[in-house]
Amino acid sequence: MGLEQKLMHTRSLLQNIAQSETSVVLANSLGAEDMVLTDLIAGLQLPVAIFSLDTGRLPGETYALMQAVAECYPAYPLRIYVPDTAATEAWVGLNGINAFYQSIELRKGCCEVRKLEPLRRALAGHSAWITGLRREQSVTRLDLPECEPDTAHGLMKYNPLLDWSEADVWAYIRAHDVPYNALHDRHYPSIGCAPCTRAIAQGEDVRAGRWWWENPESKECGLHAKASPLKPAA
Ligand code: SF4
Repeated sequence: MGLEQKLMHTRSLLQNIAQSETSVVLANSLGAEDMVLTDLIAGLQLPVAIFSLDTGRLPGETYALMQAVAECYPAYPLRIYVPDTAATEAWVGLNGINAFYQSIELRKGCCEVRKLEPLRRALAGHSAWITGLRREQSVTRLDLPECEPDTAHGLMKYNPLLDWSEADVWAYIRAHDVPYNALHDRHYPSIGCAPCTRAIAQGEDVRAGRWWWENPESKECGLHAKASPLKPAA
């Protein structure tokens, strides 16, 4: 399928999501895919709220992009969620500011405090969320569906860019002059927190720069935990 067809499919899917769901949010990680989705949602003027998680450890380039997004899409103010201060202070006090390098358990603990708890607050009360996940990004994302119940958070989750390639994403960004993170021009295809992200070499996997000290199979922060069928409402 060519980019024009993928674009038509994604636009139609976004319109259907906005029509069929009562309250939809886009989780904008400030990555290239989420910038495409932000631009598409704004272009279609869809009733979708957009939020980002500020873990407190993001690179300066990501904060610069947050500012650019605010200026570029004034009708879609980016709501920023930050970690709970007391929980972060307690975790850092107990484990150390950079404890995530010591074990997967500690890395996931840091992600829990800085990303997952704020994410739960960001998703609470909504019927669906949209992400920019793509299948080719990682071995952990190969079998993702376009739409799935997110049992961990109790709402539907849509992945409208699933079959887009990296080249598709960048073709869209260039053609529509979409703002993007300056680190992408410095060999950072996937950008997260500054201490957990590094540039990759030519030919390396696009996620190789994230938590590079871990095995590929463990490289998820829990934001996109695997779904299982929704439990009936209590
Ligand atoms: S990516 Fe790294 S710094 Fe960011 S929340 Fe996870 S472990 Fe902590």
